Amino acid sequence: MSWRTYIREVEPYVPGEQPQGETIIKLNTNENPYPPAPAVEKALRNMDPAWFRKYPDPSADILVEALADCYHLPKERIFVGVGSDDVLGMAFLTFFNSGKPILFPDVTYSFYPVWAQLFGIPYETPALDGDFRIKPEDYRRENGGIIFPNPNAPTGVFLPLDQVEEIVKANRDSVVIVDEAYIDFGGESALPLIERYDNLLIVQTFSKSRSMAGMRVGYAMGQEELIQALGNVKYSYNSYTMNMPSIILGAEAVRDEAYFRETTGKIMKTRENAKARLSRLGFSCTDSRTNFLFITHPRVKAAQLFEALRRGRIYVRYFRAPRLDNYLRVTVGTDEEMEVLYDFLESYLERL
Ligand code: PMP
Repeated sequence: MSWRTYIREVEPYVPGEQPQGETIIKLNTNENPYPPAPAVEKALRNMDPAWFRKYPDPSADILVEALADCYHLPKERIFVGVGSDDVLGMAFLTFFNSGKPILFPDVTYSFYPVWAQLFGIPYETPALDGDFRIKPEDYRRENGGIIFPNPNAPTGVFLPLDQVEEIVKANRDSVVIVDEAYIDFGGESALPLIERYDNLLIVQTFSKSRSMAGMRVGYAMGQEELIQALGNVKYSYNSYTMNMPSIILGAEAVRDEAYFRETTGKIMKTRENAKARLSRLGFSCTDSRTNFLFITHPRVKAAQLFEALRRGRIYVRYFRAPRLDNYLRVTVGTDEEMEVLYDFLESYLERL
């Protein structure tokens, strides 16, 4: 048999485009429109390239310590990685080994089925209801683990904490991962529940609320046993996952609470305004608690609008997938960027 027979075949996750150029309005990958905390710039300027001669700290201690201070947790309850994608991939590898199907919603972060396929994990996808809500009762069947984002992506819909707890409580024999990539934009974190549930892992990221997508910093929080297990897998794969600048600058980004509140607050305000403005243009929006909007229009197909926006140099995200293919996901930009979007949409819809 040829070696080709034995290649691991996977259908990769497709990330959003990263178009270059000053004149585009980029609302397609849920980045934060504001720069990271000012202390990040200062620390960046003070960095000495001679430091890079050495390997980084494999335990990323200063970053873990900054997170521990921020969340009032012992360091043993925090695991860090190269963006939450790295942390989530590691968590799949660590916790989803029973051979039983794991569960995640039919409409959700499209990386979950990719990791499941890559690691040979069977999965089932309970359907969201007609309003894109997770139905906790669907997660009462036998399973090898559960994962869902809260708020969900790409819908933006938030599952109230009592329902998150219902799922965690009903599955004490499985690890339940709550992917809180967008939690800082008005959701309520399930973090306090880790005190009571040893099967709950919370995953968050610096990519959205901390304006650090390019630095690739993510983290998980849970009881020591879960964190230790993640560490064992990480150190069996690559000890030095996080590079030195990400560790140093990540620690700076997390210390400035006031700046974090200011920028996440601005984004939430722009988002609520966007819901009103887009509704006036005839769009339906979910009640997003994230830094993006999930919208559909009764008179124009999402695919057509996506292309028109693109020609107008406004990039948003379109998913050619069941249940999603008449929606657009639009990242919340600055007020100025959003005005350009509303103007474009208004004149486009007028001309229809
Ligand atoms: N989870 C969800 C739900 C996301 O939308 C994203 C962003 N693509 C991630 C995790 C990963 O983000 P990052 O790796 O930048 O932390």
